[in-house]
Amino acid sequence: MPTISPAHARAFWLLRNEIYAQLDEAEFLAMGFGEWGISDPEAIGKLICDLVTVIRIVVGKHSEDAEGRCGFCNSSWPCPSVGSIHDAMRDPESEFVKLVES
Ligand SMILES: [Zn+2]
Repeated sequence: MPTISPAHARAFWLLRNEIYAQLDEAEFLAMGFGEWGISDPEAIGKLICDLVTVIRIVVGKHSEDAEGRCGFCNSSWPCPSVGSIHDAMRDPESEFVKLVES
């Protein structure tokens, strides 16, 4: 199994941490701990739309092809990426489930 170079490992670590840092900021905002605070509903609404766009892009990239495989990662569909998103959205404690059921 090929291993990546230390430089690549560092770049991957930085990329992942940048994504986590942005998600942390979004979560802090939603919880009222962000710099904007809960008093900026317009910013919160735009942030939710941005997060939905991110999820749509990931799901779109991992769409099924004519052979029933993920066109992006070539796993059987639903691939692990789509399965993870679906599982998270079907968590009975999530607001997504409450939105669909209301
Ligand atoms: Zn996939």
